[in-house]
Amino acid sequence: MCTPSIRQRHPHRVCVIGGGGSGAALAYDLSLRGFLVTLFEKGELTSGTTGRHHGQLHSGARYAVGDRDIARECMEETLVLRRIVPDAIEYNGGVFIATDDAEADYAPAFIAACNEAGIPAREVPIAEARSWEPAITPTARRTVWVPDGSFDAFRVPLSFFAAARRLGATIRPFTEVVSIDVTAGTARSVTVRRAGSDHDERVDCDYIVSATGAWAGIVGAMAGFDVPVTPAPGTMVAVRGRVTDMVLSRLAPPGDGDIIVPQRGLSIIGTTQRVVDNPDGILPDDDDVAFLLRRADELAPGFSARAVHAIWAAARPLAGASTGDGREISRDFMVLDHPGMATLIGGKATVLRAMAEKAADHVCGVFCVNEPCRTRDFILPTWRDWYTEAL
Ligand SMILES: Cc1cc2nc3c(=O)[nH]c(=O)nc-3n(C[C@H](O)[C@H](O)[C@H](O)COP(=O)(O)OP(=O)(O)OC[C@H]3O[C@@H](n4cnc5c(N)ncnc54)[C@H](O)[C@@H]3O)c2cc1C
Repeated sequence: MCTPSIRQRHPHRVCVIGGGGSGAALAYDLSLRGFLVTLFEKGELTSGTTGRHHGQLHSGARYAVGDRDIARECMEETLVLRRIVPDAIEYNGGVFIATDDAEADYAPAFIAACNEAGIPAREVPIAEARSWEPAITPTARRTVWVPDGSFDAFRVPLSFFAAARRLGATIRPFTEVVSIDVTAGTARSVTVRRAGSDHDERVDCDYIVSATGAWAGIVGAMAGFDVPVTPAPGTMVAVRGRVTDMVLSRLAPPGDGDIIVPQRGLSIIGTTQRVVDNPDGILPDDDDVAFLLRRADELAPGFSARAVHAIWAAARPLAGASTGDGREISRDFMVLDHPGMATLIGGKATVLRAMAEKAADHVCGVFCVNEPCRTRDFILPTWRDWYTEAL
């Protein structure tokens, strides 16, 4: 609950910890609502999970059977992102492919669930799908079009960072938060250390939001808060060349190695899932690579014959504690309210704007600030402005 004495003091100083997509969108949203924002990122901007994700602009189709609300939210957010960051999105569409009888039988339930969630999925003749995308396996049993797309993992957040900076936010990459002072329910300061320096600096603030993804448990513990987050790494393999210009997915419940995404001059097959305690230093499993290439060939024969460009892994910041491989945890996001601080975790890159909206609503609630979210309303600066406006 906010108090009238707090209401009189806007603008308030908010420290955002974490320079991934969630932190970027939050810095922008809070700045639009009049807060004085300073964002700290311990590495380069987007160097956490954000800069390593698959790059699928999720229409929500993948989630529709399991969770209509998440699917609907993805669909809504793809429409917003296509409007506000057009130069970082390749809106190429997607095809879900049934490769066997079981997958073919899944089509009616899949299409119905998508339509219920507001996703205009529709079955198309295999020949038509292959005329759009000749890479689709000739043994496909059924094909369903969905409004998926590709987006650039780095450029979308950089547009949000550029917009936040124009509004006065201070963005500080290579600056790690090493301790947090929240006393008697009130945020007082964070202590930060610049990379390569042994000098600590205290930065005073009125509120703190941790948007530290898979590191949220570690950062929450600095302030004495328990943050239930499960780092769940996945492996991805990029091969050279555009095997496909559309996003190809397996027509089945979400599993491993079931999506091919074209990204610039590459094609990426992903992903896998396991859980770890520590999100730092995650490496891909060798077994994963052979598995992923085999699965890619089932959707687009010849994928594995391409030269491998890169193999990497990144950790999903799943919101909740896992009892298995993390698949039992929802892909939804949450804003955790701690005294003097909040944590924004979970979700996915496609819904970064919606995640930020919910977190910024929370901060407004704390300070009785009656400013609506306006991040849907404006086209963002191009990602190039992040670099050129700093010169
Ligand atoms: C394999 C894989 C594939 C995925 N593919 C997709 C996809 O195709 N489409 C999609 O929509 N989503 C996808 N996702 C999900 C998406 O990548 C994540 O949900 C999203 O990137 C999380 O962003 P974030 O900003 O919350 O976290 P992060 O990007 O991890 O940002 C958190 C930041 O906090 C920083 N940090 C941590 N501790 C500190 C500290 N003490 N001080 C300062 N900074 C700190 C970290 O360095 C990090 O940069 C994928 C995820 C994985 C793992």
